[in-house]
Amino acid sequence: MTQLYDLHCHSTASDGALSPTELVKRAAENAITTLALTDHDTTTGLAEAKICADELGIHFINGIELSAQWEKVGVHIVGLNIDPQHEMLQKVMAELHIMRTERAEKIALKLEKKGIFGALAAVQKAATNETITRVHFANFLVSQAHVSTISEAFDRYLGNGKSAYVSTTWTPLESAVQAIRDAGGVPVVAHPLRYKLTATRMRKMLGTFKNAGGLAIEVVTGRYNPDEMRVLANYANQFELAGSVGSDFHSPDNPWIELGRVAPLPASVKPVWELWQ
Ligand code: AMP
Ligand code: MN
Ligand code: MN
Ligand code: MN
Repeated sequence: MTQLYDLHCHSTASDGALSPTELVKRAAENAITTLALTDHDTTTGLAEAKICADELGIHFINGIELSAQWEKVGVHIVGLNIDPQHEMLQKVMAELHIMRTERAEKIALKLEKKGIFGALAAVQKAATNETITRVHFANFLVSQAHVSTISEAFDRYLGNGKSAYVSTTWTPLESAVQAIRDAGGVPVVAHPLRYKLTATRMRKMLGTFKNAGGLAIEVVTGRYNPDEMRVLANYANQFELAGSVGSDFHSPDNPWIELGRVAPLPASVKPVWELWQ
């Protein structure tokens, strides 16, 4: 049987639009054979997804996407094949939860200064007190007709440097990598090209990641073109990191990114799943 891996996606446990069950059903419809759910800073969706995956015959990998800090840059570290109960990982998640709650309060205050009220209660409700993300604020701004699209919400209010932007210092990169390793998982640099690093800074970041115990980078995502994949395959091989494949699917409303719609991993790269198979 042809294997199709998607090792990066989101459910309603963080900023995804589908419940874990709906997400796994969509994965089955899209012929995915191995799926990892990687919600931002939380593992609460994993148990439900695993039940559905078992029913539908999909191999399910426990995952997470941790918000981490490298120098002045926020980088995302996916953890694959983790033990969600592990104490160190739980501790990092609890810290991130507090950071996100405090940031949400500050974002809501900035929106109030712009005459927009009720954001905090709305996002807390939508996130059911789990991971509150900027996407929850964006959904609120759309629902109240302050903007007409999610991307307008980021452009006008929530994006880096915009009027309701609040900068956060996330868990240090090294701690995020260590927590994933402690939990028996494989740390993966998510969407490495999204940080807009120069080649020199990219090498510095990957060196820090590797020294901290990092094991893989995403070489294939929902968005990369063949040239970008070649660049990433080269980084993987240069730093002796395995390569991962993940769509970063969030919502059926985004026509550009679909669960399981990913290119094959370049043959020169060691597949990340070989690390746990
Ligand atoms: P946070 O981790 O709370 O800062 O939220 C970041 C999330 O917002 C990312 O994981 C994306 O899902 C989403 N996001 C970031 N920028 C944009 C954008 N310009 N348009 C839509 N979604 C975005
Ligand atoms: Mn997201
Ligand atoms: Mn991310
Ligand atoms: Mn993601």
